[in-house]
Amino acid sequence: MIESKIWLSSPHMGGNEQQYVKEAFDTNWVAPLGPNVTGFEKDLEAYVLNDTHVAALSSGTAAIHLGLVLLDVKAGDTVICQSFTFSASANPILYQGATPIFIDSEKETWNMCPKALEEAIIDCTSKGKKPRAIIAVHLYGMPFNATAIRAVADHYQIPILEDSAEALGSKYKGQMCGTFGDLGVLSFNGNKIITTSGGGALVAPTKELKEKAVFFATQSRDHAPHYQHSEIGYNYRLSNICAGIGRGQMEVLDRHIALRRSMHDFYVDCFLKIEGVSVFTEPNDDYFSNHWLSAIVVDPSKTKGKTREDLRLALEKHNIESRPLWKPMHLQPVFEKYPYYGGAVSNQLFENGLCLPSGSNLDSSDRERIRKVIELFFEV
Ligand SMILES: *Cc1c(COP(=O)(O)O)cnc(C)c1O
Repeated sequence: MIESKIWLSSPHMGGNEQQYVKEAFDTNWVAPLGPNVTGFEKDLEAYVLNDTHVAALSSGTAAIHLGLVLLDVKAGDTVICQSFTFSASANPILYQGATPIFIDSEKETWNMCPKALEEAIIDCTSKGKKPRAIIAVHLYGMPFNATAIRAVADHYQIPILEDSAEALGSKYKGQMCGTFGDLGVLSFNGNKIITTSGGGALVAPTKELKEKAVFFATQSRDHAPHYQHSEIGYNYRLSNICAGIGRGQMEVLDRHIALRRSMHDFYVDCFLKIEGVSVFTEPNDDYFSNHWLSAIVVDPSKTKGKTREDLRLALEKHNIESRPLWKPMHLQPVFEKYPYYGGAVSNQLFENGLCLPSGSNLDSSDRERIRKVIELFFEV
């Protein structure tokens, strides 16, 4: 008998999503605007707080791209980006014709190393090209060290575009992720902590910036009865249908975070007696991760040579999905020619790290299946 597939992270509906979608159909708001879009934005603003203004967009990638447009990043500029991330953090730099500069991670948070960041800024500036923006990422839901990154950014007066695509509901020193940057980015892709099937948002500190984002996202239409354009526009607004799913998902977000965090606790317990495997955990009480994905690092010198790839294949044999950590951007064929600052922290994480099934919809029988395979594999 083939056991059912256990996914890394799959959509988890709360129940009311279809009601919001039905209302959209009943009132014929089948368009990239309408009550669900406005309602979803209000829900997000109430959730992340900090006097934010949220623009719902078609994807997190679109939000990063519009963020760079709003920060006035142009062809020929340079933009600093965390290397250890998903490619969508960096691709929009190239959409703008700018050059990415990649930065290594620190060991504590796996996110941008503040020291390597400062080194890059000093070096680039001395070569006559001060970076125009910093894209810092809260990877796997773990907040980056916002105090240290903000101090460097402010010292050199470079704005931060905060990629919080994986970190809705995570907090640093009690403040919600998504609100640390000059602009913040959220994603509601199918595998994220909540989903609209596909979608994203830009979190702005002022109403004016939000309105400017919506202007760009709706083809940059000038105020005129005919279609007139003084700036290049984009078609990046979220559909009222998808926003309906988002409103339903907001009702269960906190419950899903609690469930993801309990998956992390499950893995801590699972690996308690297994030498050579560490579960990625908050470095101290300043950090609260939504634990979007639970991740481990395997040290083969302490596991009788067993690697994370061996574990991945053992899980796969039992129809359980797991995945190596993000391959850093400076190692990607498409990005390897760009400058890189730092050491080998992200290289090593990629080599030895693995993401494990983390969905809020995994039940106790799924957990027992996962535990059995892990214990068999490590012979405990
Ligand atoms: C998912 C993700 C994005 C992109 O979001 P989409 O909604 O899929 O376009 C950007 N950055 C990170 C770190 C992500 O995980």
